[in-house]
Amino acid sequence: MTLHKGASPSDRKQTGHPVNPFYGEADPVAGMETAPPRHTLPDGPLAPHAAYQFVHDELMLDGNSRLNLATFVTTWMEPQAGVLMAECRDKNMIDKDEYPRTAELEKRCVAMLADLWHAPDPSSAVGCSTTGSSEACMLAGMSFKRRWMQRNQDRYPGSARPNLVMGANVQVCWEKFCNFWEVEARTVPMEGDRFHLDAASAAEQCDENTIGVVAILGSTFDGSYEPVADICAALDEVQKKRGWDIPVHVDGASGAMIAPFLDPELMWDFRLPRVASINTSGHKYGLVYPGVGWALWRDTEALPEELVFRVNYLGGDMPTFALNFSRPGAQVAAQYYTFLRLGRAGFRAVQQATRDVAGSMAERIGALGDFRLLTRGDQLPVFAFTTADDVTAFDVFDVSRRMRERGWLLPAYTFPPNREDLSVLRVVCRNGFSMDLADLFLADLEQLLTELRQQSGPMQRPESVATAFHH
Ligand SMILES: *Cc1c(COP(=O)(O)O)cnc(C)c1O
Repeated sequence: MTLHKGASPSDRKQTGHPVNPFYGEADPVAGMETAPPRHTLPDGPLAPHAAYQFVHDELMLDGNSRLNLATFVTTWMEPQAGVLMAECRDKNMIDKDEYPRTAELEKRCVAMLADLWHAPDPSSAVGCSTTGSSEACMLAGMSFKRRWMQRNQDRYPGSARPNLVMGANVQVCWEKFCNFWEVEARTVPMEGDRFHLDAASAAEQCDENTIGVVAILGSTFDGSYEPVADICAALDEVQKKRGWDIPVHVDGASGAMIAPFLDPELMWDFRLPRVASINTSGHKYGLVYPGVGWALWRDTEALPEELVFRVNYLGGDMPTFALNFSRPGAQVAAQYYTFLRLGRAGFRAVQQATRDVAGSMAERIGALGDFRLLTRGDQLPVFAFTTADDVTAFDVFDVSRRMRERGWLLPAYTFPPNREDLSVLRVVCRNGFSMDLADLFLADLEQLLTELRQQSGPMQRPESVATAFHH
């Protein structure tokens, strides 16, 4: 999480303002007169209704999540899911003996995903829930590294240094993995109109110290799917020529819950023998509120047994693979609810509706004439666009900032190497972002453009920075 500093001198100087008497006790003698300090633990307690009101009021300044086109994370669930989650909020996922039914639901979710992702033998596929895709990717990366170490005990530690091959468009979790676990990140830069990893460059980067290749379904930068099957085929060639058997991990944070329903013919999952592991974010297109991800391995061979811990001090003896210990169980119950509630047909309908909204928005934005589409929302329901070549009056950062005035969070950011020259806007369509909201968005954008076209040039701003969180 954000690494915060303690209170600054000016923070500490702040004294509480008088409290609205209606918030607490209207009687100033019995109740509070001044608000508690904000940067030191208050000396005494506060009545629950007053404390609630303080926190509630401050949070009003957070954005409206439904108008946020930057995030991939679920911002709407059915009321029943909310009730279920409230019922489970005291359940600790790690305590599998105390909460055997929660553990059972997790197991069923893993089994359903193994089936959905075509594990060759679902009974030997292994997997677990995680806090999100980031933790899932760490676990998959650790399995890669450990398997490579087992094959290279004579050279590591010592002369060999492990590396991981991926596109420069990877989500930041892979840079974290490489940093934390001391693996060289071999990132393939973008070139021209290629905005993600391609098979030839992936194969070129590999050597005997490559622990694996990460293929993304799909890229957070533009919503495009990486060619997983081609990457696997290129690695088959590498194996034939050089003898290196390099496994692939599919980072399906978003796409692993889109492709099975909307692109059933696309070969990207365990049907490809080289795919050793897959992750997804239950809280993205798995349609659950934040805090859940999934990691699956095609079989027990892909997940070294020595990484698995068996804890017995809570009673029971369950194998676990996780970075965290305690974790909320509510998200797992909510994931199972979503699977049960929608089924394949329901997921197909929901994801198709989302992709339809994305496609329609992309088409309409493309037709405005001011923009050039990089993607069309026909893979992930996500698309990126930039200003048309002849547009000189404004740039993508102007559009992002001005749309914010109307309540829309539309991120603008620059691409990674070697296309840092390219700045884009990106729209992430999610369940709950209806065609009605898309119409309102387009109307606001069109109205804004009549103003922006009058500018003499892009607004000045400090050395270009992204305008909103875009991962
Ligand atoms: C969002 C995302 C992640 C990180 O997932 P969290 O669930 O937010 O931890 C990793 N990889 C890709 C491709 C993503 O889109």
